[in-house]
Amino acid sequence: MTKPHKPQRNRGREAHETSRPPAPVAPPSAPAASVVVNRRASDRLRHGHLWVYASDIDSAAWPESGTAAAPALRQVIDTRGILLGTALYSPSSQIALRMVSSEALGEAQWLELLAERLRRAIARRKPLLDAENDACRLCFSEADEIPGLVIDKYGSLVILQLLAKGLDSTAVREACVSVLREELGLAGIAPAAILERPDPRIRELEGLPAPSPEPLWPPGAGAAAATTQFRLNGLIFHYDANAGQKTGAFLDQRTNYAAAREWARQLAADGRALDMFCYQGGFALHLAEVCRTVTGVDASRASLEVADQNLGANRSRISAQVDWIEADAFELLRGWSDAGERFDAIILDPPAFAKTKRAVEGALRGYKELNLRALRMLRPGGLLVTCSCSHHVGWADLEAAVASAAADAPRRVRLLERRGAAPDHPVVLTLPETEYLKCLVLEAE
Ligand code: SAH
Repeated sequence: MTKPHKPQRNRGREAHETSRPPAPVAPPSAPAASVVVNRRASDRLRHGHLWVYASDIDSAAWPESGTAAAPALRQVIDTRGILLGTALYSPSSQIALRMVSSEALGEAQWLELLAERLRRAIARRKPLLDAENDACRLCFSEADEIPGLVIDKYGSLVILQLLAKGLDSTAVREACVSVLREELGLAGIAPAAILERPDPRIRELEGLPAPSPEPLWPPGAGAAAATTQFRLNGLIFHYDANAGQKTGAFLDQRTNYAAAREWARQLAADGRALDMFCYQGGFALHLAEVCRTVTGVDASRASLEVADQNLGANRSRISAQVDWIEADAFELLRGWSDAGERFDAIILDPPAFAKTKRAVEGALRGYKELNLRALRMLRPGGLLVTCSCSHHVGWADLEAAVASAAADAPRRVRLLERRGAAPDHPVVLTLPETEYLKCLVLEAE
């Protein structure tokens, strides 16, 4: 779906990638200061990756710091002096450079390119929006060739995250607001407000200041604009821009919610379902459309309160008995599986256990333990939907952990589907980091 980034030598290729009339040519802007990267980094970039780590920069050729006008761009060259392209520069991050072009760009050209790429990103999402779905990720950072820019739409609100230091500028914010208003307005879904929401972890890594609490658009709308409702697969969810995780919800699971509902219809209709790590009830509410009882479990009381509000908003189409339990998932599963509890469908969607490579081993033990307990509680023919959102845990790792759990349970487990994130979170093959969400749909015989 997304065109893989491929370093290009021919200037101006990007301008031909759209059917729109060519944008006015930007006045030539001064090329950015250059930085030399080592062989390892240049090989990675030539293979289509977009990142250069700080440790791969030739420090002797490092440009003076403190001179960068926003957006902070650098020309990237290899040790032979050959241009590799232009990158956003993050002085305090381990990911020091994020490539935005294989050409030498000045600021004005980069802003034009950003606007054009954002238009294309939105155009790719428009077919996903319909009467049943008015929420999706409009821009997914590197996967849409705008590293660090994440934009999610929740009903009438648009939430923007600037996750790279080089994007932290008024010019970038204005370009985003202008494209969003224009493109969504043309589609008849003009946003009521565009808000900026920080990611606390990335803010620290990138050394970013706190964004202004004022909406980016309309000016002066104040805090009242921060809440709304949105629809996923026909179900209604509450949204509060000042609460919750990520930009608010787990839009990447949208297609997996629908798949879980369909598999539960086949394997667990009128049965008893369990949604572990349920957050605001994404899977639980989908299962509640086909199962008789659903239990959602999460350690966060605030999330369960929203889950309950979401249940209330959908009561007209949900007749299941649904209850929410605030508990530690590991403790609860241990107790219940020892006590012989039985379910017809279980969802496991834990937080990312492995945020770094070093944490993978411990994460795999966690996945195995959860899956072992879940498999022991499933009735014959029951459904297990098990997810990992850690990029560092690959498909083979996750499947091995679940297979090991199945062997110990002991249960014969059939793989019904391997699923990834929804299509508004595209994977780019040359950027392995864009693939993080894995969802296995299994039947325990
Ligand atoms: N399935 C959810 C997303 C889950 S995110 C959805 O589709 O929307 C992970 C959730 O796990 C968070 O809500 C977090 O509060 C919860 N969590 C983290 N550690 C936990 C633990 N040890 N026990 C129970 N819940 C936990």
